[in-house]
Amino acid sequence: MPEAQSQETKKPKVLPKPNSDFYQTFQMLSEAEQQTVSKVRAFMETSVAPVINDFWAKDSFPFDLLPGFRDLQIVGAGYDGYGCAGGSNLLACYIAMEIARIDCSFATFFGVHSGLAMGSIFLCGSEEQKKKWLPPMARMEKIGCFGLTEPLVGSGTGGGLTTTAQRDGDTWIINGQKKWIGNAPWCDVSIIWARDVADNQVKGFIVENKTTPGFSVEKIQNKIALKVVQNGLITLNNCRIPEENRLQQDSSFRDTAKVLRMTRFLVGWEATGCQMGAYENTLRYTQQRLQFGKPIASFQLVQDLLAKMLANVTACQCMVARTAQLHAEGKLNDAHAALAKAFTTARMRETVAWGRELLGGNGISLDYQVARFFADAEAFYSYEGTYQMQNLIVGKAVTGLSAFV
Ligand SMILES: Cc1cc2nc3c(=O)[nH]c(=O)nc-3n(C[C@H](O)[C@H](O)[C@H](O)COP(=O)(O)OP(=O)(O)OC[C@H]3O[C@@H](n4cnc5c(N)ncnc54)[C@H](O)[C@@H]3O)c2cc1C
Repeated sequence: MPEAQSQETKKPKVLPKPNSDFYQTFQMLSEAEQQTVSKVRAFMETSVAPVINDFWAKDSFPFDLLPGFRDLQIVGAGYDGYGCAGGSNLLACYIAMEIARIDCSFATFFGVHSGLAMGSIFLCGSEEQKKKWLPPMARMEKIGCFGLTEPLVGSGTGGGLTTTAQRDGDTWIINGQKKWIGNAPWCDVSIIWARDVADNQVKGFIVENKTTPGFSVEKIQNKIALKVVQNGLITLNNCRIPEENRLQQDSSFRDTAKVLRMTRFLVGWEATGCQMGAYENTLRYTQQRLQFGKPIASFQLVQDLLAKMLANVTACQCMVARTAQLHAEGKLNDAHAALAKAFTTARMRETVAWGRELLGGNGISLDYQVARFFADAEAFYSYEGTYQMQNLIVGKAVTGLSAFV
């Protein structure tokens, strides 16, 4: 063997760094937007990633990280005015994906506050309500939650809410329970959806958690997914809410659905971020883990699963990118959002399961990250409308026939 060649074979091979943006979708953002997302990436990698497993294991929320997160000035991304971060819709989506790439719980905390709670006020509130509530929420002085699901009504919220609102002069009396509500055990403001007993229509109310008599929250225990997010069972017992806190641009579930349409396709972005995190951690592991004297990444069957993981990630990125364009053009409908949520979360379940598999025994240990993505994916798959509900929405749109019971 010539000398030069033999020396070359002795050098340790430099392997490519894991990169989950294979089709360079990041370049769809403007330069300024890329800088914002890079800031989010740096915060998530240096402040959240090193500590998040401990919080996950203990079912607790990292409150100490909130000041640094607030300083990123990304709350209310995609909303113009009212002290919100603004920017393009694509930027808001990228931020959600980037947060989920490191931690799905943190993405959920952010999605509930900036997406569901602030989005309800942004889309369904009057000018006065937006001016009053959005600036302090954008500054994270007030954190929000979104109460739609009930103990006995989940998928059927469109037709069967049991929480009632009864008008009494200038106030509304609200009674009922809301289950699974993210951020509820510690946040300040709840958007509560209730059925007006007078016209049987769903209406939205801004409820102040800490000062409303009759409002109580019990933390939901023993979860196996998104353990960092604090979910609550809210009880409203004769809560009196002023008419000025009823969302003025909301008169039926059709308006509530506007909020869900926006946040559902954002869950598609989060599900894509979850896969990116699982893929990158898995690839890194397979490049380092030796079996039979070689990195397991050099085995054909391992590369097959890595390629399939990357294909899922890339397909989802391209799909959600198009939903963001449709949203920006005002063309995103319920079926578009539902298809993206269903597809990305189904692919996510495959991707995280292949990642878990490629880590062998370490795939069930929190210490190697992939197990957290694997567990958290289960909540993404079910929340904001289950897979079946999304496909029923798509089925109705494409067949013209409703299969809802
Ligand atoms: C971690 C987490 C966080 C959440 N955060 C929030 C929150 O912040 N705010 C909020 O309001 N809610 C929240 N949710 C609730 C979530 O949106 C609901 O769990 C979800 O909509 C499903 O409702 P369900 O759990 O009652 O299931 P069900 O509606 O009881 O469904 C159970 C199963 O039956 C299937 N099914 C039901 N009806 C049909 C049908 N007609 N045809 C075919 N299949 C059907 C479903 O697809 C599912 O597989 C959260 C849930 C979780 C797990």
